[in-house]
Amino acid sequence: MAAEIRLFPCLDDNFGYLIHDPVSKATAAIDAPEAGPIIAALDKEGWTLTDILVTHHHGDHVGGIAELKQKYTCRVVAPHDKKAEIKQVDVRVKEGDRVMVGGLTARVIETPGHTLDHITYVFDDDKAVFSADALFSIGCGRVFEGSYPMMWDSLLKLRALPDNFKVYCGHEYTASNVKFALGIEPDNAALKARAAEVSKLRADGKPTIPVTIGDEKKANTFLRADVASVAEAVGLAGKSAAEVFGELRERKNKG
Ligand code: ZN
Ligand code: FE
Repeated sequence: MAAEIRLFPCLDDNFGYLIHDPVSKATAAIDAPEAGPIIAALDKEGWTLTDILVTHHHGDHVGGIAELKQKYTCRVVAPHDKKAEIKQVDVRVKEGDRVMVGGLTARVIETPGHTLDHITYVFDDDKAVFSADALFSIGCGRVFEGSYPMMWDSLLKLRALPDNFKVYCGHEYTASNVKFALGIEPDNAALKARAAEVSKLRADGKPTIPVTIGDEKKANTFLRADVASVAEAVGLAGKSAAEVFGELRERKNKG
């Protein structure tokens, strides 16, 4: 049976996620921005939290762990990070590890750059990618701890996933990302189509997530740093994709 996924807002602009195995009844939260909305989402479904899958150490992704662990005695799965900044971790995972949520399987992809410990959970059978602050729709996370080439390599790993996989990212930043991307690629038809869709969703008060890898490949300018027209648009024709990516990221930081 297919996994059930729920998405709901947390904090100012974070997404909370639950993934539930209808057979075993296991339920994982992907990150724990804050406990309240996660508990409310569980109560609404009559689900019990069995696992928290943490993507990286930032406070807006781990702030709810202590309260949730106290309430559910759930297992906390988190990335290997030398500084062990994430507390109350039961299992540490790295590239290629598999994490079971009841009968569901998540595969760990290391996606450093935003932070050095950042990982992405991919549920291959359910075609679901929890990319947190690595890949956003039409954007990507700020590069705080890593380098631009490191972040670009992480984005390449995500871009290589099958087109029909769905991206569930960490924040609702799509509208701002679209505005920036249109400034770089005003004639990108897929981006223009996504812009129209995002305006409609936001006007209706709906989330812009999930989105497919295939659509992001066509419309997300940050995934297109190796496309000649994008390099040209930022005045870096002939330069490496990592350099073009870095320039895009710097411009977005200032925007
Ligand atoms: Zn973050
Ligand atoms: Fe975040």
